[in-house]
Amino acid sequence: MNILGTEIEKGTNYSLDLNIATLHTGTSLSVPVLVQRGLEEGPCLLLTAGIHGDEINGVEIVRQMVTKGFHKPNAGTLICMPVINVFGFLNQEREFPDGRDLNRMFPGAKRGSLASRFAYYLMHEIVPHIDYCIDYHTGGARRFNYAQIRIDADQKDTLKLAKVFGMKFIKDAETRDKSFRKTLAEKGKKVLLFEGGKTLHLDRTVTNHGINGTLRVMTYLGMRDFTSCLKDRVATATAAPKLIKSSSWLRAKRSGMFRSNCQLGSFVQKKQVIGSISDPYGNFEIPVKAHVSGYIICVNHAPLINQGDALFHLSKKIEAVF
Ligand SMILES: [Zn+2]
Repeated sequence: MNILGTEIEKGTNYSLDLNIATLHTGTSLSVPVLVQRGLEEGPCLLLTAGIHGDEINGVEIVRQMVTKGFHKPNAGTLICMPVINVFGFLNQEREFPDGRDLNRMFPGAKRGSLASRFAYYLMHEIVPHIDYCIDYHTGGARRFNYAQIRIDADQKDTLKLAKVFGMKFIKDAETRDKSFRKTLAEKGKKVLLFEGGKTLHLDRTVTNHGINGTLRVMTYLGMRDFTSCLKDRVATATAAPKLIKSSSWLRAKRSGMFRSNCQLGSFVQKKQVIGSISDPYGNFEIPVKAHVSGYIICVNHAPLINQGDALFHLSKKIEAVF
């Protein structure tokens, strides 16, 4: 196994740099790649976080995997990329320094834009070595996602892996053109997309969900048995997962101050009051009622909202996963 010009022997670990460009300051744009290979043969799993630079929970999940030594497999290889968009992370922004969303630039081009070049090098230098990938994300803006796995549920192997991860919700989500997930799937790689929490925020429940799920997947793939370790960790819900086949956003009927009064992840009935919108002067306060019966999988944490803003994401069609 040769990654970025370095021969990775069994039982060794390397901290490598994926160098892709030099900025106008002369600063080189390089991304740390931590490679840990076990003594025995096994699959190669890639953990990626921070494709969007303001999504911090994933960075924390991969960081803890490393600091706790969970990134050392007995069999196979674990590749960790804790912060893919290092400049977005530095600026606390979603996009690359060229203003582009990396997750819409795959598979990239060698002579393309900065983000496109990065996508190209990731696809050519790292991806050929891997069998599986877990890519960690959060909700955008102020929208807080209940910890969930997103997959293309038509792929049975990926659905099985999503079930192993052990979240309450698995969302059957169509892949978007030029996204990392779609491009990996086209190369035959099995990809789990983890979504939990919101941007520029660290949430311990979400990060525990992400770490425990990753340990379950590594155990399932035979890389290392974390069964007893998981018993000592903070328990995260592993009730029979619900496969969300369709979902819909409940949007604000008026602009104003918004508050939710329901629990994220809970089931609500159609027309149940789950929040309210008011003006600041005491002239009106209207209830926000669920437009369908379903689970609340995302809630907007913004205190001030505009008419039409997405407030709640509710499940519609659900299937049990066996
Ligand atoms: Zn994201």
